[in-house]
Amino acid sequence: MSKLNPITIFWFRRDLRLSDNAGLFHALKGSASVLPLFIFDDGILINLENKSDPRVTFIYKTVCDLKIQVQAMGSDLLVRKGQVLEVFKSLFENYKIEAVYTNNDYESAAIRRDKLIADFVESRGAAFKSFKDQTLFEKDEILTGTNKAYSVYTPYKNKVLAKLNEFYLKSYPNDLYQSSFLKLTKKEKMLEISDLGFTESSLSFPAPELSSQMLKSYEKNRNFPYLNSSTSHLGLHLRFGTLSIRELAREGKKYSDVWLSELIWRDFFMQILWHYPHVENQSFRPEYDKIVWRNSPEDFQRWKEGTTGYLLVDAGMRELNSTGYMHNRVRMLVASFLCKHLLIHWHQGERYFAKKLLDYDLSANSGNWQWAAGSGCDAAPYFRIFNPMTQQEKFDPDLVYVKKWVPEYQSQRYPDPMVEHTVGRDRCLQAYGKILKKEAI
Ligand SMILES: Cc1cc2nc3c(=O)[nH]c(=O)nc-3n(C[C@H](O)[C@H](O)[C@H](O)COP(=O)(O)OP(=O)(O)OC[C@H]3O[C@@H](n4cnc5c(N)ncnc54)[C@H](O)[C@@H]3O)c2cc1C
Repeated sequence: MSKLNPITIFWFRRDLRLSDNAGLFHALKGSASVLPLFIFDDGILINLENKSDPRVTFIYKTVCDLKIQVQAMGSDLLVRKGQVLEVFKSLFENYKIEAVYTNNDYESAAIRRDKLIADFVESRGAAFKSFKDQTLFEKDEILTGTNKAYSVYTPYKNKVLAKLNEFYLKSYPNDLYQSSFLKLTKKEKMLEISDLGFTESSLSFPAPELSSQMLKSYEKNRNFPYLNSSTSHLGLHLRFGTLSIRELAREGKKYSDVWLSELIWRDFFMQILWHYPHVENQSFRPEYDKIVWRNSPEDFQRWKEGTTGYLLVDAGMRELNSTGYMHNRVRMLVASFLCKHLLIHWHQGERYFAKKLLDYDLSANSGNWQWAAGSGCDAAPYFRIFNPMTQQEKFDPDLVYVKKWVPEYQSQRYPDPMVEHTVGRDRCLQAYGKILKKEAI
């Protein structure tokens, strides 16, 4: 590779696909040849406790596939492991780079990283360009009549639906520009997963396929965790960008308004994180951080293991621990149970989900945990407390889901409820009420 030919780098992050990829499209349309790059970021890998974390396996396999596809076009995908800035320094030593293209990320750590890299790239006389790709709308695209960020979902959704026309839904025709990938005769060998300090997870991942059948019955079936394909299971693919949000939203528009509105919840929480970054660690409503939580480590442990004595809570936690997935209805219940019945701060539950969920996403996780705790924007009022028994009777009446995950539920080994429902409920109303009633005066 001659250092004389200027090239553009396209930096993949949570947009791991070649088709309908906004940043990649703009890079390929430019005048310079494009060399794609993926970096296994030491800054992220070091924080993962589980050295066979299934999300690393998923990314690794996806990157292997991408590399094969790019090689088939006569080019190569550079795959590096290290500190991101060091990787870019070394690339600038070896190539004449005129621009780095990528897609926007809205998490504070990613924003800091991108600023660091943009400053470095620009200090070397190259351009840094980043595009909207993972959301339908971002940042300030959807604002209230007085130009403020929305903090209530329904008016936000209505504004999105009014604006969501062809223009925002159309795919980028990346395949028309494939010849713009840099031609390389010598290809680099792919890293081994062990080079990352990880071993392969044996978990299986949902296929990146959306069924129109599922969409058509989504509204009717979505609340029942025992129905295996009542929801899409595409969270993981949206998280890592193996599917395009535009493509999925078009299908939602065609077959299910209710499913489309779930994709809009995803956008909603992303714009909340962008406008109110404190929600990562603190309550959206600050008064909730003054509640005197019990935070009992023993109770937290029983919740994590799924031995609370409440069938649907335990089934959900065991599903999460074994598969990295939990049905939304059950996520709502286990979160409410932790914050309200056990009086454990939502952030502890949020961190546990962050370790376990394949589809973990900071904005959706924090947004939904705070919704369940009552502390978030547009959250359920604090005095609405799910009854875990009624929830099971309503959403798993024949105990199909429970029997799958808690097979010993009728035996001596299964514990009694760790806190009686009305006792937990009253304790919660007292602890929340003490602070929230005072704040309301
Ligand atoms: C306490 C709690 C924590 C959660 N943590 C996450 C998380 O870390 N990552 C995550 O993607 N979702 C999270 N959710 C939202 C929701 O439970 C999952 O998106 C959904 O269960 C994933 O299954 P699915 O892909 O089959 O979803 P479907 O029902 O098929 O929905 C399609 C997609 O819409 C999006 N979506 C659906 N519901 C929501 C929602 N309430 N908020 C934001 N986006 C939504 C997701 O991208 C999902 O994949 C959480 C919910 C709760 C109550």
